[in-house]
Amino acid sequence: MVIDEILAHNERFVQEKTLPIIGHTPRKRMAVVTCMDCRLVQMFEQALGLERGDVLELRTAGATISKPERQGAANDLIRSLAGGIYLLGVREVAVIGHTHCGLAHANPIVLTASMQAQGVDPQQLIQDEGLEGWLGAFDDVHVNVREVVNVIRNSPYLPKIPVHGLVIDIETGKLEMVDRG
Ligand SMILES: [Zn+2]
Repeated sequence: MVIDEILAHNERFVQEKTLPIIGHTPRKRMAVVTCMDCRLVQMFEQALGLERGDVLELRTAGATISKPERQGAANDLIRSLAGGIYLLGVREVAVIGHTHCGLAHANPIVLTASMQAQGVDPQQLIQDEGLEGWLGAFDDVHVNVREVVNVIRNSPYLPKIPVHGLVIDIETGKLEMVDRG
């Protein structure tokens, strides 16, 4: 399994490297919300010029909060931002969606079939909120970024700090400002 590869690498890593001791307060006092896409691994930090210790990085599928979760404060994104703001000194937030996101135009038929093929019954989810709603699927990454920015800006549990919305090109790493906070 891949985990064995990771463990073998890790053994070499800790033998060869000594990491500097740094604090958990993000140096740039910023939290960045982005997607879980594997193409963002390393490329994301390099494209933004981010080093270890600079920012908090929060990742959700699609850099989004699913629609049913947007109303309340108890979703994981708002909770994590609250921790960053109140406990770790975050004073600025950037929500960064990306082009060609897997959650854009997610196909409910494919999703249903894949769940069933792996022995999971999607029926309850389909009844409750619809599979796309549950997954947080969206049609347009720019619209999604604006919506998530507004959920964060309007959360009664977060203070008024700048919240920006951007889209990163997954192929070139170029950032596009969508909504400056
Ligand atoms: Zn994505």
